[in-house]
Amino acid sequence: MADLKHVYRFGKETDGNRSMRELLGGKGANLAEMCSIGIPVPPGFTISTQACKHTIDNDMEWPEGLREQVNEGVFHVEGEMNKKLGDKEDPLLLSVRSGAAVSMPGMMDTILNLGMNDKVAEALIRKTGNERFVFDSYRRFIDMFGDVVMGVSHEYFEEAITSLKEQSGVQNDTDLTASQLSELTDKYKAIYRKHTGHMFPEDPMEQLELAINAVFKSWNSGRAIKYREISGIKGLIGTGVNVQAMVFGNMSSECATGVCFTRNPSTGERELYGEYLVNAQGEDVVAGIRTPEPISSMKKRIPAVYDELLSYTHKLEDHYKNMQDIEFTVQEGKLFILQTRNGKRTGAAAVRIAVDLVQENIVSKEEAIAELVEAEHIDQLLHPQFENGDVKEKDLIGKGLPASPGAAVGKVVFDSKRAEELAEQGEMVILVRIETSPEDVGGMSSAEGILTSRGGMTSHAAVVARGWGKPCVAGCGDIVINYREHSFTNGDLIIKEGDWISIDGTRGFVIKGQKNMIPPKLSDEYEIFMRWVGEFESMQVRANAETPEDAEMARGLGATGIGLARTEHMFFKDDRVTAMRRMIIAEDEKERREALMELLPYQKEDFIGIFRTMEDLPVTVRLLDPPLHEFLPSEDEEVERVAQELGVTEKLLRIKIEALKEFNPMLGHRGCRLGVTYPEITEMQTRAILEAALELKAEGINAKPEIMIPLVGSVNEFVNQRAVVERTAEKVFSEHKDSIDFLIGTMIEVPRAALVANEIAREADFFSFGTNDLTQMTLGYSRDDATKFIPYYLDNGILGEDPFQTLDQQGVGQLVQMGTELGRAGNPKLKVGICGEHGGDPASIEFCFKLGLNYVSCSPYRVPIAHLSIAKAAIKGVKTSVNQN
Ligand code: PEP
Ligand code: MG
Repeated sequence: MADLKHVYRFGKETDGNRSMRELLGGKGANLAEMCSIGIPVPPGFTISTQACKHTIDNDMEWPEGLREQVNEGVFHVEGEMNKKLGDKEDPLLLSVRSGAAVSMPGMMDTILNLGMNDKVAEALIRKTGNERFVFDSYRRFIDMFGDVVMGVSHEYFEEAITSLKEQSGVQNDTDLTASQLSELTDKYKAIYRKHTGHMFPEDPMEQLELAINAVFKSWNSGRAIKYREISGIKGLIGTGVNVQAMVFGNMSSECATGVCFTRNPSTGERELYGEYLVNAQGEDVVAGIRTPEPISSMKKRIPAVYDELLSYTHKLEDHYKNMQDIEFTVQEGKLFILQTRNGKRTGAAAVRIAVDLVQENIVSKEEAIAELVEAEHIDQLLHPQFENGDVKEKDLIGKGLPASPGAAVGKVVFDSKRAEELAEQGEMVILVRIETSPEDVGGMSSAEGILTSRGGMTSHAAVVARGWGKPCVAGCGDIVINYREHSFTNGDLIIKEGDWISIDGTRGFVIKGQKNMIPPKLSDEYEIFMRWVGEFESMQVRANAETPEDAEMARGLGATGIGLARTEHMFFKDDRVTAMRRMIIAEDEKERREALMELLPYQKEDFIGIFRTMEDLPVTVRLLDPPLHEFLPSEDEEVERVAQELGVTEKLLRIKIEALKEFNPMLGHRGCRLGVTYPEITEMQTRAILEAALELKAEGINAKPEIMIPLVGSVNEFVNQRAVVERTAEKVFSEHKDSIDFLIGTMIEVPRAALVANEIAREADFFSFGTNDLTQMTLGYSRDDATKFIPYYLDNGILGEDPFQTLDQQGVGQLVQMGTELGRAGNPKLKVGICGEHGGDPASIEFCFKLGLNYVSCSPYRVPIAHLSIAKAAIKGVKTSVNQN
């Protein structure tokens, strides 16, 4: 590795650019890019992610050449700043920060003010005349270095500053005098010595080496691993390390530091949005330690700097063609940009920003669809909100910042671990913390929503919750949290752990008790965006629905048909189940037919409802699929009650239940095997479907039923069932002296069906891949039992993804491909779709698109996501210029 380049400079001389994000991490690549477009960025250098990987893999041994290149990097910064590290006249201080290829906010470590020691402090006091600032910087450095590099808990340092503030009778850190901070610096050194057994290192190069190693190591910290796991971040090799000249937002009241977004990350509105703090370091804003001021007040306070900032934000947004999240510092009136990245945003904001950027001619429609709106954003838009007017003044127990929209209801929990445990037990919880830290990501992810009493819109809780689309109310100063008592109070009101609360992250409300939630309204921008999405689609989206209400919802969300109506779901409703049970316990065909005739009107009524809603759009109705025992009771008392209802003895019912028992019902008497052995079931269902369609024809509705035979594994099964359907159709049509057009097809969900698809296709009008069963049978994982081992498989890398959520393209996908190709070879007119859960999963949809399927079918709420995923897949071939920063 001797000749390998590990270090890339940025500043007036810049080696990197934004295309190097894998190698330099997002932050490093963007710092280099910003330098090259004339943004004022303090100079520095980035150590590559490869060097991080090498060091971690080699027991913290640096790759050959890294030491020399770091020295050259320091030399570069010294040259551009005209200062020297450790100098006794004009010393340079550095920051050392992590930055992976994918943003992981606050997950890895940062060290500021590196290079500080007693001599440097003296020199800085001489140079700045600001003793207070120097000791404040020094003590912060010892704290961060001790905590991050040497593992001395930050709490020890916090205790020291808290007790000093108490002794001095002051509230804020900013109230401490220079000599108190100098005293505190000595105390911090003593804490460091006590807990490490060493003196605080004076040599800046030694400090730098240790700090770089700490950032390398933080890549594999528990919280970073957890964050990657939760966010599905895979395939990265390590973090970049950015070493950069320090600029100070805490030298005087002419200094400030802040974070801003080029557009409002909650609503998408075009406005500079963010927060800043006068006389503070960046960590104070992000960590939520002091509650910052809105950026709009900067306009009044330092108008020239505000205008300059505004011009850079426009430049950065135009350059990156995306909403930016920017960190800045003002040192003695001079503005520096420290970081830019694509800003995390809510679903509503994502859609609005995408539409606005197209209308402002900054991006094309293709770019907006491909890069600016993700499935999760659309998902968030469909999140529930509280019923209007549901919030009464008397129920309001606090108001905080509307940090991440949407409504959530749950039991109060104050501890992240506890939140995870309770969520695992199926409880809904709201995580309540004074402020969150990366340590809390597990609990935040498990909770329905997050409430904090401290911190702003860019605090950790707010940023992470927004990214995940989880409702969050932040900085709710009305409440006082007491971790020891497991409660929070607002005046006399006390809320204990386990009490129910509701939070509204859109309005910042905290409400006592459980509120009702309603589905959200979709914005005008959403309608525009989805119209554009439609322009790029070349595959249909249908919905899985079996009630008129679901069908209506699906149509409203853009479904162009029903791809799967599971008829058995209709049998569980009302008193239908009794007729169904009568059919199941029938002694002979005659009795069975009688019971089926009782079911016929119900079925017909269901189909009329769905066909009327869907009008002339296709509706695929699947004939009865599940094993019959699922309709019979299993509990003793239930058996007694059902026997009475059916007018049979308990004994007889028990004999029937016993006779229907199966060792492996998923592979037992189900699917078309029911229709083959009891053709009268297929006859009744066919009659119900066709009579419903004929009735609607008389009303002028041209229903398009598609009858689907489930669980076919051989052509003979299909031929058998097709004959029953056709025979019944002829009868129904001649009785009604009228007919309708309809299709007869099959699900492909038994692996053998995919292997002999050409034979089956010769007899069928359509295929629909039932990838739930196809996954179950191809992998040999029981759908009902796989949760016992799949989490372990995922944690241990045996599976990359849960194959029941996202299609196993390598295995099951081969069968889908083979089934499609063979099927179309056997019948060129064959229509092919998918109706397993994978029909709503973006990666699986892309796969289906590539195979050229005619449609995907998914649950109604996933219909818009499916539309977006298809459009994205269609556009993928088009080159886009939106930067992935
Ligand atoms: C399937 O198996 O993918 C399918 C859609 O049918 P079900 O889930 O009802 O078995
Ligand atoms: Mg199935």
